[in-house]
Amino acid sequence: MSDAPFCADLHSHSTASDGRLAPAELADRAMAAGLDLWALTDHDTTAGLAAAHKQTQGSTTRFVPGVEISVTWQRRTLHIVGLDIDPDCAELQAGLSHIRGLRDARAQRMISKLERIGLPDCGARAEALAAGAALTRTHFARLLVEDHLAVDMRQAFKRYLKPGKAGYVASEWVALDEAIRWIHQAGGLAVIAHPLRYRMTASWRQRLLSDFVELGGDALEVCCGPSRQPADIQTCASYATQHGLLASIGSDFHDPDQPWTRLGSLPPLPTALKPVWSQFGTGTP
Ligand code: AMP
Ligand code: MN
Ligand code: MN
Ligand code: MN
Repeated sequence: MSDAPFCADLHSHSTASDGRLAPAELADRAMAAGLDLWALTDHDTTAGLAAAHKQTQGSTTRFVPGVEISVTWQRRTLHIVGLDIDPDCAELQAGLSHIRGLRDARAQRMISKLERIGLPDCGARAEALAAGAALTRTHFARLLVEDHLAVDMRQAFKRYLKPGKAGYVASEWVALDEAIRWIHQAGGLAVIAHPLRYRMTASWRQRLLSDFVELGGDALEVCCGPSRQPADIQTCASYATQHGLLASIGSDFHDPDQPWTRLGSLPPLPTALKPVWSQFGTGTP
């Protein structure tokens, strides 16, 4: 692409994972927000991409096929976004299917725990809520709120679903190098999602960035939903510069009831950085 689009949102979720809106509804919001570039990046699935793409056809919003992959690195969970991927890539699909299997196994264990702490019929209700999507902690959080065991999603995570809490079950996802390899095999670019959201010291963060670059990772979310303050953007911008990474931008939109993550609501990327979309179309699926 030669002309840099002025408004991009390259991280969002639909009902294909833990978002509230169907892919086509999300596409309508992306178009209404006047986005030049919009990516759907559901957790460990590409199931929503075709419907989202179809809905944007003929509009000025260019659709970017994406995914957000659950990774375990140094015993920590990380999220790696793949952008501009070919969803027909067999290696990518095999990898995502493997992760959804891990999700199913974890969900079964979470269901037993949550039923024991007073969330009745939790399995069937979570399945109904997910409507065919792989279960995420978000689905369980919604049930906890529905049953007044928590006042909101934040409290549901804090009280029940975070590491160390009664409903938490650890899972070993896939390795960082595998996630990057599948994204590259699908012709896409690998992006570290919400880099300031991981609880780690500054030196561990540096180690993550070095490992990611060494393994061929491409970009870093510099402007993202959870870290939109100028100081956070500045911190991430300096990581990108220091490690020679491209910059991405994404709201991590899940739910219209959370207006602070509205699609397309983020400040623009610092102009000194090279945007990740400058490399779209260069991969070889
Ligand atoms: P999972 O991948 O199933 O472990 O679930 C992770 C998802 O939970 C994230 O993608 C977020 O959508 C959601 N999440 C994590 N922490 C919180 C929180 N404190 N408040 C609301 N949602 C959260
Ligand atoms: Mn999520
Ligand atoms: Mn994430
Ligand atoms: Mn996300």
